[in-house]
Amino acid sequence: MPTKKPAAAKKQPAKKVVGVNKKASSKDDSGLPLSVVIRRRIEAQKARFHANDNIAAFIQPGELEGLVDEVAEKMQAVLESLVIDTENDHNTKNTSRRVAKMYVQEVFNGRYVDQPTLTKFPNVSRLNELMIIGPITVRSACSHHLCPIMGRIWIGVLPSKESALIGLSKYSRLTEWVMCRPQIQEEAVVELADMLERKIKPIGVAVVMDADHFCMQWRGVKDRDSKMINSVMRGAFLKDSNLRREFLALIDRK
Ligand SMILES: [Zn+2]
Repeated sequence: MPTKKPAAAKKQPAKKVVGVNKKASSKDDSGLPLSVVIRRRIEAQKARFHANDNIAAFIQPGELEGLVDEVAEKMQAVLESLVIDTENDHNTKNTSRRVAKMYVQEVFNGRYVDQPTLTKFPNVSRLNELMIIGPITVRSACSHHLCPIMGRIWIGVLPSKESALIGLSKYSRLTEWVMCRPQIQEEAVVELADMLERKIKPIGVAVVMDADHFCMQWRGVKDRDSKMINSVMRGAFLKDSNLRREFLALIDRK
């Protein structure tokens, strides 16, 4: 007896994987640029989409590739406006696409993908000693000039007996996710500290970031040695000057 074929393929559950099941396109069915479609979804929810905001919830599977196509098209227009002969200059022939991929898939990727999943461990040994993680390499960009910000981060955590602990490598993954967006350093460290407080619920959390800002070195004042250092102290690190001193003494910023 022949079995009846289902009329339509079973719908796959929505999953944020780039480039599956759907052909990437930089326009939607009605010809609107993909960025406009995404922007309308965000505005419908009255959400914010500043340079340092994560908008993964508004992006559907396969759309990131379409966004790369759209950015590449517009980056090509920028190169043309800069009067660069991308047709005959073999070095800049595919620059627009390379830059588009670099922005969307690498250096600004923390805007477009979901927060890394965290395995949380209960604090079974009821640790309540200072933990220091770092230096974690930071690669970010300033939202004023889109110039690189290269630096390091140290995180101090004073867990409570009720804290959920996360694996060491997850501190790097979370830091990368927050930093891979155009932003300013002062806001980035606060965002990271907020997130760690929410996830771990510690008695105290401290974040120190020390970075070179290429908008001071490559352009502007061209001061090669200037660095920016920011620290955020929360909870016990704010109230207990001994704890703060211990943390600052233990991190080796040399
Ligand atoms: Zn800048």
